[in-house]
Amino acid sequence: MADEMALRVERRSIADNASGAAGDAKGRSVIGSGLAIREVVKSYGAFRAADQISLDIEPGEFVTLLGPSGSGKTTLLNLIAGFQRLDEGEIAVDGRAVHDVPTHKRGFGMVFQSYALFPNMTVTQNVAFPLRMAGIDRARADRRVAETLEIMRLSDHAGKMPSQMSGGQQQRVAIARAIVLRPKVVLMDEPLSALDRRLRESIQIEIRQLHQALGSTILFVTHDQGEALTMSDRIAVMDAGKIIQVGTPTEIYRHPKDRFVASFVGESNLIEAEVVQKRGSTMTLKNRAGYLFSAESRDAIDVGRATVLVRPERIAISDTPAANSIPAVVTSALFLGEILRVEARMQGGETLLIRCTDRVGRPLPSVGDPLHLSWGAEDCWVLS
Ligand code: ATP
Repeated sequence: MADEMALRVERRSIADNASGAAGDAKGRSVIGSGLAIREVVKSYGAFRAADQISLDIEPGEFVTLLGPSGSGKTTLLNLIAGFQRLDEGEIAVDGRAVHDVPTHKRGFGMVFQSYALFPNMTVTQNVAFPLRMAGIDRARADRRVAETLEIMRLSDHAGKMPSQMSGGQQQRVAIARAIVLRPKVVLMDEPLSALDRRLRESIQIEIRQLHQALGSTILFVTHDQGEALTMSDRIAVMDAGKIIQVGTPTEIYRHPKDRFVASFVGESNLIEAEVVQKRGSTMTLKNRAGYLFSAESRDAIDVGRATVLVRPERIAISDTPAANSIPAVVTSALFLGEILRVEARMQGGETLLIRCTDRVGRPLPSVGDPLHLSWGAEDCWVLS
């Protein structure tokens, strides 16, 4: 309740500052800019770290670049920030090309993994620094710093030096410094990866609330799929210098485009099968042992070989066969508290991971037990 009150106050105080803010479809005030990234190329020698990347980001949107190490996330963020020059393509903010504009004139807020605070300045001085550089008068700057420290719950630490603060507190100071000028765009490069899991989760929520209150456009980089799913309006999944798929967290999780996205985001069971019949977006497939099951597909998929995805929590297990169930044998079973984690080898096929909620009265399966696995067509996705 206290948190909700605090957030309402923050929203009001930030909206007061965001003069001329427009509203988005969800009624949030938006001060953010739209970003257009068009066919951007960046090479290091013969190696293309950004390979013809295009991405449109709406004003006020929270977009995450998600990908494994070396996929080009930081390269793309650095090109947008202006730390590096692109070789080809265009980057535009609200329709105006910025790729020749120096970093400090782009007006973006930035947060990095290493907090990059000035070690010889207090929290207040660190947060006030961008205001001083922008020539904001003292009284206004003091008010803005106090308000920003309040938003980031740092008021009690105003006089401390960075070395007197924990990692999480220092990163909140870095975020406060990045938003003190109320930038239209905030770029965040793995800001939480140096923090432990609990702290990461609580700052994730703070950044999400801050985004809703501030209405800035946020471009966030992470290699942590859970973080991307929790925080983003949309996720751009990257691999080898390219964007493989852009979509909302549910689209990316439920309907990944290919094997790479299916395996990188969430736990996945991939089954090799043959499409034997198509009816609209629903198909009937046959696994290697000849068992039939149904699946959904977005794209036109031809009859023939296909790879399908079933998430572990979508598989139902039963002791008795049912229509379209597939017999399997348990190869591992773990009780994890609220869920059971079971692995079972399908007859003539792959070993599948299953996560099901614990129910009183259901005994934990043992290795070697026979089982029957089933899922609905909507729980099974044919990859293109
Ligand atoms: P991480 O999650 O590990 O930070 P990333 O997805 O952010 O990875 P980038 O830092 O963008 O990846 O790097 C993309 C590729 O470009 C990597 O193979 C990297 O080695 C290469 N690269 C990046 N900077 C340079 C450079 N200055 N000179 C040569 N190669 C570089």
